[in-house]
Amino acid sequence: MNTVTVRAGGISALPAGSQFIDGAFGHGGGEPMPDVYPATGEVFAELRWSDEADLDRAVAAARRGHETWRRTAPSARARVLARAAAILRSRNREIATLETLDTGKPLAETLVVDVISGADCLDYFAAQAATLTGEYVGFSGEEGDWGYTRREPLGICGLIGAWNYPLQIACWKAAPALACGNAVILKPAELTPLTALELARALKEAGLPDGVFNVLQGDGRLGAALVAHPAIAKISLTGEAATGVKVLQGAAPGLKKVTLELGGKSPLIVFDDADIDSAVGGAMVANFYSTGQVCSNGTRVFVHERVFDAFLDRLVARTRALRLGDPMDEATQIGPLVSASHRDKVVGYLTAGRGQARLVHGGGVPAVAGFESGYWVEPTIFHVDDEKVPLCREEIFGPVMSVLAFADEDEVTQRANATGYGLSAGVYTNDLTRAHRMMARLEAGTCWINTYNVTPIELPFGGYKRSGIGRENGRWAMDAYSQVKSVYVAMSAPQYPY
Ligand code: NDP
Repeated sequence: MNTVTVRAGGISALPAGSQFIDGAFGHGGGEPMPDVYPATGEVFAELRWSDEADLDRAVAAARRGHETWRRTAPSARARVLARAAAILRSRNREIATLETLDTGKPLAETLVVDVISGADCLDYFAAQAATLTGEYVGFSGEEGDWGYTRREPLGICGLIGAWNYPLQIACWKAAPALACGNAVILKPAELTPLTALELARALKEAGLPDGVFNVLQGDGRLGAALVAHPAIAKISLTGEAATGVKVLQGAAPGLKKVTLELGGKSPLIVFDDADIDSAVGGAMVANFYSTGQVCSNGTRVFVHERVFDAFLDRLVARTRALRLGDPMDEATQIGPLVSASHRDKVVGYLTAGRGQARLVHGGGVPAVAGFESGYWVEPTIFHVDDEKVPLCREEIFGPVMSVLAFADEDEVTQRANATGYGLSAGVYTNDLTRAHRMMARLEAGTCWINTYNVTPIELPFGGYKRSGIGRENGRWAMDAYSQVKSVYVAMSAPQYPY
């Protein structure tokens, strides 16, 4: 891999290899792995999958790396993470271009979200690294026995990413893992292999010892092998609920620690006292940003019947104005979906949806001049009466919004919670007490009042119910990548019963 020229402008240098083991780029021993630009369907890079021998080499390197890194002072770990954050920021455009090539997301998004949020995450966990402390625990008087706790790393963490926010997901997992003194083997989604390698490059340049951070490439079979490998202490997955079940099953024989960030079918509720224009903007962001490929999306938009028509009118007018097109053009707002098979899945929902609800806008495959072979779908709005239809129950992971009318708070709460998922929820209202009452009643791990899909690194992120186990981000992530050891200190010879 060396350089790629992309139609309509973007030119980017590719990473120096397909995988990264023990501080060095190289190519895996497995099959060729074509990397496709979703806007054109063209192969723009050729990588090679990692094989079992690569996994064993990565594990051996991570074992050595962990021995060094766990003994490294937390303040020194912090400096490495902070330097890597600065390196990512300094290469924002170059790495954002790679992210756009892999995902098809518009550069207008990747320039302001993907790399920047990854860098913010590294900075945040750099600051957390030196806060890992234990506790003095007194339990038997001033001069008697006492205890203390130590917070220690878990070992080698296997991190498995989804394709929608590849670099951000890699950072959300790797930064707390590294801050706590663990070693990492990261497997990005096979559709989006590149920016994990840029993170590896940044960490190496920042001074991370060899072997501490490794990247392997492959599909679900490599993910499963990582989960099953006896040397791996912890798995963190971002992916579908069905994959979460497989990962739990794979981790069970080894009783491994597991964090799961899974899918959702989240509610966004607009009360009749809300700022309607703002709520329309929130609903659009919650369904069309990243072409709808966001786990926390508010895909069931409940609107109070008194403002329903006004909301829908403004929503359709603003959706009509969205600009689809060349992802490398910074004026473009909507790019293609990530792959042909994902596009086919979303189109299947659009076709079936016509029989399940009233199509209000979109619903088709647009012709995008110059990008006819890309994986496009139109931003789509359905007015749904019967929310039991698959359109309104299943995660589509595309730009497909269901809008539903409701009459009162109790009713909408019950309907919003009537899902097996529980990742996110949002409420638009200017009634202060109602807003907080709803926050208490909604069964979701990540909630917003009068905004949507904002995920600052300081706040924990994760799901209730089938949307996951554990939390990423915030101080909570440090718990997820460390374990507590209790130490009992005898101050005098014990009185044994034998
Ligand atoms: P998948 O579940 O298909 O894949 C996620 C990752 O798991 C990929 O790297 C995949 O490899 C790997 N994988 C697949 N099978 C296995 C297995 N048996 N064992 C171990 N690893 C495996 O999800 P997508 O990549 O399609 O991403 C979309 C999903 O991710 C949506 O459901 C979305 O809601 C969810 N998501 C959740 C987020 C959250 O934080 N809650 C954030 C973003 C997305 P490969 O793809 O290479 O085959």
